[in-house]
Formats: sequence, C-alpha cells, structure tokens
Amino acid sequence: MYHLGTEGFPEWQEFAGKKPHGRSLLIQFPAQRNSTEQTLLLRQRDVKQGWQVQLNGRRLGSLVAQETALVHALAVPAGALQDGTNSLAIMPPTAVDDILVGDLRLFSTGRSETLAQATLELRATTTDAPGTLPCRFTIVDATGALAALQPGTTNQTEFTVRPGVIYTRDGTARVGLLPGKYTVFASRGFEYSVATQTVTVASAETKAVALSIRRTVPTHGWVAADTHIHTLTRSKHGDATEEERMLTIAGEGIELAVATDHNHHADYTEAAQRTRTSDHFTAVIGNEVTTKAGHFNAFPILASSPVADFSITNWSDLLKGIRATPGVQVVTLNHPRDLHSGFIPLGPTNFNPVSGAALRGQDFSFDGLEVITSGAMQSDIMLLFQDWFALLNHGHRPTALGSSDTHDVSRFILGQGRTYVKCPDSNVAALDVAEACRSLREGRALVSFGLLTDLLVNERFGAGDLAVRGRRGITAVVTVLGPAWVQADRVELFANGRKVAEQRIAPTHKTIKARVTFRLPPQPHDVHLVSIASGPGVTAPFWETPRPYQPSSKTFTPRVLGATNPVWVDVDGDGTFTPARRYAERLVKKHGMTAAKLFPALAGFDQAVAAQAASLCQAAGKDLRALEYAHAMRTAAPAVQRGWMSYAGTVR
Ligand SMILES: [Zn+2]
Ligand SMILES: [Zn+2]
Repeated sequence: MYHLGTEGFPEWQEFAGKKPHGRSLLIQFPAQRNSTEQTLLLRQRDVKQGWQVQLNGRRLGSLVAQETALVHALAVPAGALQDGTNSLAIMPPTAVDDILVGDLRLFSTGRSETLAQATLELRATTTDAPGTLPCRFTIVDATGALAALQPGTTNQTEFTVRPGVIYTRDGTARVGLLPGKYTVFASRGFEYSVATQTVTVASAETKAVALSIRRTVPTHGWVAADTHIHTLTRSKHGDATEEERMLTIAGEGIELAVATDHNHHADYTEAAQRTRTSDHFTAVIGNEVTTKAGHFNAFPILASSPVADFSITNWSDLLKGIRATPGVQVVTLNHPRDLHSGFIPLGPTNFNPVSGAALRGQDFSFDGLEVITSGAMQSDIMLLFQDWFALLNHGHRPTALGSSDTHDVSRFILGQGRTYVKCPDSNVAALDVAEACRSLREGRALVSFGLLTDLLVNERFGAGDLAVRGRRGITAVVTVLGPAWVQADRVELFANGRKVAEQRIAPTHKTIKARVTFRLPPQPHDVHLVSIASGPGVTAPFWETPRPYQPSSKTFTPRVLGATNPVWVDVDGDGTFTPARRYAERLVKKHGMTAAKLFPALAGFDQAVAAQAASLCQAAGKDLRALEYAHAMRTAAPAVQRGWMSYAGTVR
C-alpha cells in the first residue's frame, strides 16, 4: 500500500510526521496490447476527494470518493494496454487528501467476468413480521475492506450494489465476487440487530448465506424520520437514483421519508411503487431551498406547487416565500455551521453563539434546526447543540433534528442521523403527515445518531411538554436505548444549556443502555431541560460513524449520540415558558444597567440569564469590561460571573 498526500500538510493526525510516497503514484509494468477488456483491481482507504486513475496517459476512471477501506474494480478497455512498458498513474486532486492505495492487480478477464468467478446467494429474514424484509448486506474481505461486487441482475428495482454494499427490497440478493474469505453482515438500520457470517467461496463455486435479524429497539408511538434526503436523479450529484433511494429508505428502516432535493419538488410515490417498497414508509414531498444565504428544508409540499424563489438572500423575505408554498408546515435550517457559497448560517458574522442573537437582524423563525447531519458532521459533535441552546435561551423555539442529507447509496448512510417523531405508527405506509409535522413543530421529537434518549420530568412530562412544579425540585428520568451493536458511556442533563448533571454508564449489549434518575434542587425560575447520551462511535462497516465534512480538527473521535428535545419547566407558574432573555429584559428594565443594582438582582438567576443581561447592556452601548462591571464581578454570584464573562468573551 502507498500513502499519497502532500508532505507537511497532513489531513489527519494519523498522517502527521509521516512522509508520503508522493502526491501521486506512478507504476510502470510490462504488458501486451489487450484486444479485449481486462480488469484492474486496487485497494483504497481514506479517499475523500476526486483522484484520477490514468493508464498510459489516458483516463481509466477515478478512485471511489469514500473514506471506508474498499476494493475498487476498474474496467481496462480493449487497446488501453500496449506492448512493452505501460504506466499507471494515480493523480491527486487540488485539495489536501491523504489516502492509502495499493494491492494493484491486473486480471486478463473483463470486469464482470472477473467479479463473477464466485457467487454468493444472500438471504435475510426476520421472525418479527410477515412479508418481505428490505435490508442491507455488507460484505468485507479478509483485510476488512468492502469487497468488489458484481450484481447478479442489473434490475435496480430489486436490489442495488456498491463496493461491499447491497440494498435489497426483499432480503435476497445474488452477487459475484472474487474467490476468497468474506464476512457478510445483514442489517436494517438503528432499530434492528445485525447478523454476521464468515464464508469462504472458491472459484466457480456458489455459496448460500442465510441470516436472521430482529427488531430490537422498541419505538412504539415514535416514527423514524429522515427529513433530508437527496437523489442523483433530482439533485444531479451523488450517486443514488430515485429507485436506489427507495431501497435505501426501506433497507435502513426509515418510516417517514422527506424528499429534499435542491430547489426541486420530488414525489417518491411512483418510485416507491416501481420498487415495491411503498408498504414500508410514507413519502413526503419537500424541498431543500438552496440559496446563497443558507439551505432550508420545507415540507410537506402539495404536488405541482411552484418552487419557492431561491434567489432571495434576506431571510425574512425568503422564509415568507417558503411558507407560502402550498402545504408547507415545517421549515428547517440545515447544517447551520457548514460553509456553502462563502456563507455559514450560524457563523461568527451572523450569529452570537452565547446569546443566540442574529447579528444581521435575520429572521430566526424556522421550526427546526439540524443539530446532527450525518452526511456532514462537525468535528465537535456538541457545537450545534450549543448553538441551539443559545437560540432557545434567546427565546426561539426551533426543534432539534437529526437527518442524513445523503446524496449516495452507501458513502453516507441514509437515516444514520434521524429524528424520532411522536406520531401513531401502526401503519407506516400511511402515516398522518400533518400529525407528524405538528409533533415536530412542538418539539415532540428525539434526535438519534446511534442512540435513542428519552426524558421524563416529574414523572409525566416528556419532550415538548410544559412541566409544572419545578419549585419543589425536579426529577428527571432518562432512558437510553440502542441496538446491541452500539454502546453508550455517558448521560448528561442540560438546564438552559448548561450541564447540571452527568453520569457515566457501563457498556452493555442490552437494548436498554441506561435508566438514570437525576434529582435537581428547586429551581429559581423557568428552565428548559435536555438530555444527551453518547458513546464510542461505530467502526463496523455496516454503520461506520462518518468523518466530519469540513473538519476543524485533525483528530477524529467518532461518537454516537441520542438527544431529547426540551421539556419546558414552568417554575414561576405563569402557565408559560419564560426564556432567559425575557427574565434579563425584565431585570434590566427594573434595575437598570449599573453593576451595583443589576448584579445583585441577577444573583437569583442562572448563567443563561446573566449572559442575556450582558448582551442587552452591550447592545445599549455599555462596555462590559468597564471598571464598574469588573469591580462588581468580584463579589457577584458564580452564575453571574460565568454568564457575564462568557458573553463578554464573544465581543471585542
Ligand atoms: Zn444543504
Ligand atoms: Zn442537502
């Protein structure tokens, strides 16, 4: 294997201090002119960008832009080889990308013949439900790399194939591959167990592999939603056709699938019928309104409605236009820390991450905020949760969402990030979309990225509820669920965005990872409570935790996570939830902005209220580091010190 990259510019810590073989790879070898197609096989790992493969100066193809280790099979067309010395080159992209590539093998047979030397007949079943079982098969070779596969049929309505991955409508698939020893996994997303079998298959041999999986994570009354889904057919990038997308939705156990192609209203109904997957999910027409000032999802959308104007960059006009699209009930802000068209929606010029304020007067009235986008992860998995907490403390009420934003069949897994929405789920083929959207808007939803965390406050209030009786103390019971192949090691409880309790949990293969009771002392004022459980990332190839999309760090620590939406605790008993900013406004109005009066008044409030008070003073022209405040800070309550300083740290 060769390490290719740019010396001195390692993409990841694991490559730091290592001298790459070079930026490109050039291999010379003797051969004879080929009159028929031959096949080049290679192994690759950590490929993110576009690397070209050239033979004798002509383009043969590209490496697969996928970071997982895999075997890639390229066809070598007739006449591409020449008599005598031949040169094979692997050429770099302009962006920094450290890769491993090697184990190059040339076969004198054509691609499909080479990969049809041996055959596997795969079958997955479940005892849980009658009928067919859409699922995913993952096949890795003895080195752990995703195997090069040849589909037994090219009918994309039955199953679809990528390196080492098959999605099938009915749990059966027939694939050709090189003779050898393989491990086969059958899986169906977060709620299902995984079955594994090792198989050795010889040349000209066909072997049957039968696997049985079970639904293990109970999600009764919660609908598995992916609110951010693309296809190559409609978005013109990625690699999943509309038919293939249906197989991945059904194969990963997503029950509410929102089509969100870029500035396009895709209706999956016909594709679901063509692939006979319509029994397994409810398809919703949506749109990723893709602008130069951020990406917003809107759904549901009535068929044949005009597409919202995506040339608008002023958010209030833009949101008005999006909401005017017939049918729309939910508008979400997508991947809010990603850079697109030179714009980061919640970047430092647009947003204060402590106060939650819009710095350019933008309209923050979207209903949902993606805190987990599995196809575009952050280096710091908590970053977007902190942004979201700041928005909540400012008085906004977006529901936290998990989604996949996948454009591919397998590079990023559909439904890896997902949202569980409170909604009757006895017939997943005909879900009440209006009810699901209402639940989403009301925050009756749980964010899932490998774990499912639920929160019960004072014995009866769940996510989205307004809870009472906080004055006598709060009991928060957190339940963490997950399949046997995921572990959790930590449960945290946040009040107004500040961590107030944490418990380590021991790894277990059981479905219930933890049930933890946190008891909080009586609260002085309203707080929103959110619980987040997390654990080590999944490295197994059927659900590998993806690397960050635009990394801010060279170290990657994969984690899984499950988060609740807030339980709103009405401590002051006025029948509504009062956000930190409202308390701060009242205090500033009553006591003014002098430290001598404001700081003692803030003493009975939490850090979030102090941060909001600081932002109000700063907005009124006060210098937060003035002697007056610095002096008063010394005797202020610790929560006031923390809140004031955290906000002061964001202004120059
Ligand atoms: Zn987007
Ligand atoms: Zn997208």
